Amino acid sequence: MFWRCLRLIKKVMPSQFVETIHDIDIEELRAKNIRAIITDLDNTLVEWHRPQATPEVLAWLSRMREAGIQVTVVSNNNQERVLRFCEPLGIRFIWAARKPLNRAFLRAIREMDVRIEETVVIGDQLFTDILGGNLLGFHTILVVPVASTDGFWTRFNRRMERIALYWMRRKGLITWKNHS
Ligand SMILES: [Mg+2]
Repeated sequence: MFWRCLRLIKKVMPSQFVETIHDIDIEELRAKNIRAIITDLDNTLVEWHRPQATPEVLAWLSRMREAGIQVTVVSNNNQERVLRFCEPLGIRFIWAARKPLNRAFLRAIREMDVRIEETVVIGDQLFTDILGGNLLGFHTILVVPVASTDGFWTRFNRRMERIALYWMRRKGLITWKNHS
């Protein structure tokens, strides 16, 4: 039981943790030969209920573009939400991705013509974004959720995350400070 828990917890442990997408260091990505980003949408780029990108997100996207880093939004949300948000930005996107399942991740790297080692996965949820990315061997980056008023399943996931994070800290698996 204990070891099974620990194995599961390791699978949901992000490679890196930042407060927001804006804290991701482009030079560090370059040093790692990163050429592409797979990012979650809701509560990662903007609040889950915000229909359009903020000026900050637009600036972030153009910084990535200048750095030659491609971006694909991979979201478990529906077509209407993801299309409306992403289409004006001129970036690739996949809706109804069913993360943590691997299909959408694999489609994203195929479409961007990059390898897993050249790609980071960014998201605010351990059991969808981070688990899905880790299972395929991506470098995964956890962000603090932009907004905390969520639907039922997200709230449920958050509770599970808190338990997992508590375990990780207790086992000394993580050293960054508590964000919850
Ligand atoms: Mg999210």
